[in-house]
Amino acid sequence: MPTRRSFLGAALGLGAASAERKPNVVIIFTDDQGYGDVGCYGATGYRTPHLDRMATEGIRFTSFYSAACVCTPSRAALLTGCHPVRLGLGHRVLFPYSVTGLDPDEVTIADLLRAQGYATACVGKWHLGHLPKFLPTRQGFDAYYGVPYSNDMGSHHYPMIQYTSPPLPVMRNEEVIEQAPAQASLTARFTAEAVRWMEQNRDRPFFLYLAHCMPHVPIDASERFRGKTKHGLYGDVIEELDWSVGEILGSLRRLGLDEDTFVLFTSDNGPVVDAGNRRGYRSASAGPLRGMKNTTWEGGMRVPGIARWPGRIPAGRVSGEVVTAMDLLPTIARLAGAPLPANRIDGKDIWPILSGESGARSPHEAFFYYRDDRLEAVRAGQWKLHVFKPEWPAGHAPELYNLDGDIGESRNVAAEHPDVVRRLAALAEGAREDLGDAVSRRIGRNVRPIGRIP
Ligand code: MG
Repeated sequence: MPTRRSFLGAALGLGAASAERKPNVVIIFTDDQGYGDVGCYGATGYRTPHLDRMATEGIRFTSFYSAACVCTPSRAALLTGCHPVRLGLGHRVLFPYSVTGLDPDEVTIADLLRAQGYATACVGKWHLGHLPKFLPTRQGFDAYYGVPYSNDMGSHHYPMIQYTSPPLPVMRNEEVIEQAPAQASLTARFTAEAVRWMEQNRDRPFFLYLAHCMPHVPIDASERFRGKTKHGLYGDVIEELDWSVGEILGSLRRLGLDEDTFVLFTSDNGPVVDAGNRRGYRSASAGPLRGMKNTTWEGGMRVPGIARWPGRIPAGRVSGEVVTAMDLLPTIARLAGAPLPANRIDGKDIWPILSGESGARSPHEAFFYYRDDRLEAVRAGQWKLHVFKPEWPAGHAPELYNLDGDIGESRNVAAEHPDVVRRLAALAEGAREDLGDAVSRRIGRNVRPIGRIP
């Protein structure tokens, strides 16, 4: 049944967004949390009641993809709706010595929403360039509080590494206000900042991008969460992240904004599965998926994805449609009545799937798995073709997997389906043409330069 406000909007012949308060948008983004690292995705040994409830009150995706298998390109894609390779940001991650970043001329979700009158804040990890011209405050965010790159990139974590880096900075807007924060404090302090900021901005539409550092190494949790789970520190860290989700959702309820807010939870890439448990990572999990962070097997890029908006996203659904973090920008633009960027983007509006439109299907003909600037795989429907792996010998034939019956990519069926191999190989060739491919030394026709210091 339509809500009173959407009925009014319909009666006036207006889009919902123009007839009522534009919806708040909250993106909660964790770092290196695997497909199997949430209760409702099969985690055991610790609990995630808030995420599980968010899923039962909204929609849980089982084929939600990050656009890359490591931090920087994944974040660039989420915020711009563009494939990271298109932005010149396909290769690896930025470091404290990097002089590049997300080109400030690229349009982020924050840029789009700020132009629509939104208050915008980035809380937590940035990792799209730490020099002033690349900071969140130059990319559409009114406010920034957090660390400019990964939490392991301070001199305290890597004293012997070849590059020299300062102690991990904590920034407020464009100023360093602290160095080498206790890792155990990060989840709680980002949560407190996010809640405080939402309270301050409760009276106007807002966009909160809460990008936690955890569970990226070096992992740690607050005193009240340490030692509480059967899965060691990793379980404790995930329970604290889940607590954080509960704080955000609880705050929205308390502020009376529950039905005005689209909340999405996801992770930037797959988990670090450390068989030797050298870093306490034994229990990080990609669930049934093969591979891990920094690979283009499913475990590297298929991540948890949960969305909730009471009254607008029907409760209790699980969707296997292929959707990506790049879809957030065009979807949110639609919800806010904002125009899309003039530049080419890769994401698609997935509101029909989120809102439960009958028969809504994935808008993606294909999804491309790049690692750095190399095209390694393509998925179309149930099929996934791996076209390159650095560990393969020269001349290795492409491998085909049927993800419908073989989510763990265990049986190469290329020989049985030459027609499917040909079809997906043609799609891969289209990506090489458009985005380029370092394996075949191709420059894409439609790529844009990375942001640089002049
Ligand atoms: Mg990451």
